[in-house]
Amino acid sequence: MQQMGAREDVTVGILALQGAFAEHQVMLQKLSVKRRIVIVLVRTEEDLHKCDALIIPGGESTTIALLARLAGLLGPLREFLKTKPVWGTCAGAILLAQSIEGAKKGGQELLGGISVSVGRNGWGSQASRIRNVVESFEAPLEVEGLRDSARPFHGVFIRAPVILALSPSPTDPPIQILSRISTSLLPQSQTLVPHDEDDTDPRDAGTVVALRQGRHLLTTFHPELTKDDRFHEYFVRECVLPSLV
Ligand code: GLN
Repeated sequence: MQQMGAREDVTVGILALQGAFAEHQVMLQKLSVKRRIVIVLVRTEEDLHKCDALIIPGGESTTIALLARLAGLLGPLREFLKTKPVWGTCAGAILLAQSIEGAKKGGQELLGGISVSVGRNGWGSQASRIRNVVESFEAPLEVEGLRDSARPFHGVFIRAPVILALSPSPTDPPIQILSRISTSLLPQSQTLVPHDEDDTDPRDAGTVVALRQGRHLLTTFHPELTKDDRFHEYFVRECVLPSLV
């Protein structure tokens, strides 16, 4: 009989300081993959050290960063990103960016880890409701690499960031674009140059809503708020399990 020891398990942490961490937990609990998944809600450095990978949920990036600072987690999280897979959804994606526009007054701390710059609340903020800018919306997405990829993924965007530029240095892992939304859905404030066939052309970063760089994954929307587990499966299958061997 096969021995079920710790080596058979994969431990996925979810940063549980604020935001939609419980929804990610539910998705992971239901997931069927090759290995048993142990879930850790990460609130301390000790929790983080148990993890093979981490999900940073959506919520409010400024609040998550502040609570991470208070918990003494900013440094350990930056170290974790250097060797282990991390997936950021929405606010989590902002934290993983190298730089942002529209940061909170006085600045806001980022973890970095993915070579992109993002516009916070790029589709509109709470205040933009008055100006009739759509801040939150849903859109069907074609996503490369998902199980059953011909079936669109339902993208839920809630005051989501817009990717402004992809800027990997020559020594960074290349960025693989997994999904773009149609240009017609872009907010009018985003000026785009004509589409270039080169997928990593930073000039048309604005339509990119899901990407992968090395072992890290970034989605500007919320897969955990759907009933579709394909992104969670993708993260475990493509980013987490290969990093264990
Ligand atoms: N606008 C939020 C922020 O700046 C992100 C929103 C979300 O995660 N749904 O953190």
